[in-house]
Amino acid sequence: MQKSLNYRNSYHDNLHRYAGLKRFFERWSADPDFKQDLINNTTEALKKHAIPVTPDEIKYMIDERITELPQPVKTMWEISKSKQDLIQSFYLSENLPRDRGMLAWRNRQIARQRFDLGPFFTDTNIHSSMTVELSQGCSVGCWFCALSPDSFKENYNYEDNREEWLRLLDTMHSFLGDAMKSTFLYWATEPFDNPDYEKFCLDIYEACGVFPPTTTAVAHKDTERIRRFIELSADHGCWLNRFSLTSLGIMSKVHKAFSAEELAEVECLALNMNTSFAYGNAGNFRKRALERPEILSQQDNKLRKAPWHRFNSDYAESEEYANGSICCVTGFLINAVSRKIQLISPTTASDEWPLGYIIFAEAIYENAAELEMILQSWSIQYFKEKLEDNDILRFHPWLDISVLPDRIEIKGRFNQKEIIEETANPSLYYLVRHITEVPVRLTDIRQHAAANFSISPQESDLLINELYKKGFFYGC
Ligand code: SF4
Repeated sequence: MQKSLNYRNSYHDNLHRYAGLKRFFERWSADPDFKQDLINNTTEALKKHAIPVTPDEIKYMIDERITELPQPVKTMWEISKSKQDLIQSFYLSENLPRDRGMLAWRNRQIARQRFDLGPFFTDTNIHSSMTVELSQGCSVGCWFCALSPDSFKENYNYEDNREEWLRLLDTMHSFLGDAMKSTFLYWATEPFDNPDYEKFCLDIYEACGVFPPTTTAVAHKDTERIRRFIELSADHGCWLNRFSLTSLGIMSKVHKAFSAEELAEVECLALNMNTSFAYGNAGNFRKRALERPEILSQQDNKLRKAPWHRFNSDYAESEEYANGSICCVTGFLINAVSRKIQLISPTTASDEWPLGYIIFAEAIYENAAELEMILQSWSIQYFKEKLEDNDILRFHPWLDISVLPDRIEIKGRFNQKEIIEETANPSLYYLVRHITEVPVRLTDIRQHAAANFSISPQESDLLINELYKKGFFYGC
């Protein structure tokens, strides 16, 4: 199969061009003592941390007299912007679900996320349509893990299950169409727990021409396997690999084991407690933060320093923690070992959804035919373009809805607003007011609106379906 490189852009070229600088910022954002080390002895500090830049290239970062934005920071911002462009085109415009109903459902969930998790989360998320776990449980056991896996139990063996696996891919590919290209192969699992992980990745590549992105927390363990994997994925045009570096010691090991150029296309995400990266408040971390609220405040302080938070008054003036989920799938989560399939989408973690995603439905399949039946039944129940008569309408409990004499304000967690003026749109105003009073079936609201406000059934349906598209209703 021809390599699928058309989704790589200037992002990748720049990563190679600035591989040393990229490494510099990985240490800079993770290690609170690094700046002082640089001030004390720049050459020594760079050498100690295996960072191949000259003192001249980074002098702006430690010279307090320079007040304008240093060039290295601007360069990194440009790289991050080109990554964002790639996400936008690959995941949000080109590779969408084939099924019109699923596409409508996905668009609704993305619209809801804007109110639920905020615009930054929504715009930077890949909203992948499928992920598959190739193990049960995870061997790493990170204390902050937002997905709270059980400890490692079992792998999905490639040789024993090859036929079943290829049928699973066929079935999902037929249903998803191009959205299959957004697939990746881990969730509450460590991908390299499975000794056959590389073979599964190659099958995804064969199926849809895209080598799936990978995130691993064990890059420091079997470095030869990881080195071969980086080469394999690059040979197949993979756009992203990511190392989760859970301590500064692990970052040092990884930076010594691999050159900056070898890791040019690998995002090294520092996850030690003092990093500038803030943990998602879901799963294990949320449990810990409920017992010790000060650890959430520490993380919140980090978020409030980020430009996207600081310079957006909707975030800056909100009390909400702006990283309430790490979920990046609006679609199917499949565990190949247990044959469980779930339909999920991100939400701010709560007692109802502690892992930071809504589980709309779940089922166990025995074979491809059963999987197909499950997809068909979820199509009828969830993948709809319009509401049906018996659908019960109620707003999400976290929406802040104020019914005033002249208007209704529907507010999201970060001040996203929908305002319905009574004079400009009286029919919508009465319909929304009615829905806020009591959960109600579409058919009942239609009758009520016709009897009490002389709103035609067609007009009711049209207006309510507009609210439905915006993802305002609970459970759909
Ligand atoms: S963060 Fe990843 S590696 Fe760590 S426990 Fe969670 S799934 Fe496992």
